[in-house]
Amino acid sequence: MSASDRLDREGMRRHNLGLVLRAIADGDRPSRTDVALVTGLHKTTVSSLVADLIERELVCEAGKASNGTVGRPAVALELAGDRYVALGLEINVDHLTYTAVDLLGRVRDQGSVRQDNRARSPSRSLSALAELIAGPRNRLKEAGAIVVGATLALPGLVDPRDGVLLVAPNLGWRDVAVVDELQAVLGDDLTLRVDNEANLAAFAERWYGAGRTHRDFVYVSGYIGVGAGIVSNGVLHRGETGFGGEFGHLTVEAEGPPCACGSRGCVEALVGLDALLRRAGKPSSAETTAHELVEAAQRGEPRTLEAIEVVGATLGVALASTANLLGSRAIVLGGYFAPLCPWLRAPIERELQRRVLAFPWSPIEVMRSELADGAAVLGAAALALRAILDDPASTPTG
Ligand SMILES: [Zn+2]
Repeated sequence: MSASDRLDREGMRRHNLGLVLRAIADGDRPSRTDVALVTGLHKTTVSSLVADLIERELVCEAGKASNGTVGRPAVALELAGDRYVALGLEINVDHLTYTAVDLLGRVRDQGSVRQDNRARSPSRSLSALAELIAGPRNRLKEAGAIVVGATLALPGLVDPRDGVLLVAPNLGWRDVAVVDELQAVLGDDLTLRVDNEANLAAFAERWYGAGRTHRDFVYVSGYIGVGAGIVSNGVLHRGETGFGGEFGHLTVEAEGPPCACGSRGCVEALVGLDALLRRAGKPSSAETTAHELVEAAQRGEPRTLEAIEVVGATLGVALASTANLLGSRAIVLGGYFAPLCPWLRAPIERELQRRVLAFPWSPIEVMRSELADGAAVLGAAALALRAILDDPASTPTG
């Protein structure tokens, strides 16, 4: 066998190892025979690959398969949750957050500190984040878990390939090599990624939330900024540049109020949390929380309800344009939009009905995110874990 044949064989085995692991992850406790059927691989090949995955502690045997046929009952396979964990990290305007998630999607550790990152340089915020996760990383290690990687969620335009934040208007950050800088303060070889927070929240919805029932949806998250993630056919859509999905900077009013991005009349300038608070006659987001806004709505405060109605209608207009363009079947409301969903839903649906051409034939479901505030960090961890499902051979054997 020549060297290139051997490489081809190794490459093929590596590829098949991923196929088998994903079949087990997506299946309902399948047997080896089920996996062979789904993947089209020979049963002896599957058995050998499953043995490899068990040795790597990615898969375990879990009693009898649910659909065992006549004869000896087949053994069910499922993902092994204990060994591999990934970290989701987030730096946002007023907090630092981390969460550790295992292959079964269980949160193994989490924490958050409130601090105003607008008042800090990127390197000070990144150092504070490194400090925040030092303890949890030690605890996970002591518990026998391997941290396979971490993803940092940021509220801005991010180049995930180069690990660079281009601009985060609400943080006042620009051109920061976040992956290199964080790697330097961590001082070890933890695999790091960075991505936009709304993209990561949409990724979390895909795996743990609305995406379980919808393969096409637009996730919109309202905070001080407004972001979106577009999931199309089960995959996050970023466009060729990787910068797609900037829903917050769609123009709704050409000469509307100024936006943090430098333009005017953007969705964010009209429906971001500060815009809503101003309209409701309340102090800015530095002094008023989204929770207080929900309480005011529950009390039936007229000015708050009126402000939410206007924001809902504006959001509906922008979402209708998006839905006309993308053909979306569902819209998932996250961030501060989630707790306000009971009041936002009606004006949004009204504008969708009025403006989406295909609505009578293909109505759009407006859903509330079940993941709420934790969506971005959860998606960040999920992205790092997906790397294992894409290439299980990247994990250690034995
Ligand atoms: Zn803007």
